Amino acid sequence: MDKVLELKKIEADMVANTALPLRDAANLVFGEGNVDCAVMFIGEAPGVNEDRLRRPFVGRGGQLLDDMIRGLGWKREDTYITNIVKRRPPENRDPLPNEIEAYKPYLTRQIEVIDPKLIVTLGRFSMNYFLPDAKITRDHGRPLLVDGRTIFPVYHPAAALRSTQMMETLRGDFKKIPSVLSGEFGMIELPPARGVTPQREKPKQAGLF
Ligand code: URA
Repeated sequence: MDKVLELKKIEADMVANTALPLRDAANLVFGEGNVDCAVMFIGEAPGVNEDRLRRPFVGRGGQLLDDMIRGLGWKREDTYITNIVKRRPPENRDPLPNEIEAYKPYLTRQIEVIDPKLIVTLGRFSMNYFLPDAKITRDHGRPLLVDGRTIFPVYHPAAALRSTQMMETLRGDFKKIPSVLSGEFGMIELPPARGVTPQREKPKQAGLF
């Protein structure tokens, strides 16, 4: 499969869909990165900078994300970055349930094409997209197998910029990403759209929480 071509088709389908919410208010920010990545980061929705540049995570939160990715010895371009809602909600308000639903078929296809080893959800909206009953304070930093995909929820970078404690937590969770990828953490398989049973850390890492 030519992944780039497939992604272009998905983007073209979104452009052609005149019923998509937020269409008249904002630019389409489809996502970018390495289509053969191991890790896909999924945020909430574009903000003002992302809307202007039509690229995800390019504001202050994006700089922090880049910084954290570099901290793992990778580059942003090694990963793929996108959002659950692909147009900016007015005044940066939270995305509405109907907006999340409307963009869902496109994100589903995008994930299928990229087929990452790991999805890191940034913030609670993205986490709840995959895990409706999860709580970010409880479930961040725990890899969960949902519908055959490993989901690793972390705090949103913008939230970390507002709180030293969240920043520390986000940094700690990011440090776990390589071991999640290498399978060092066992997974708990969850039925989709069900309650979350967070997995237990392996004993040698038990002190982390
Ligand atoms: N916040 C998000 O969730 N996504 C972006 O692309 C930028 C900020």
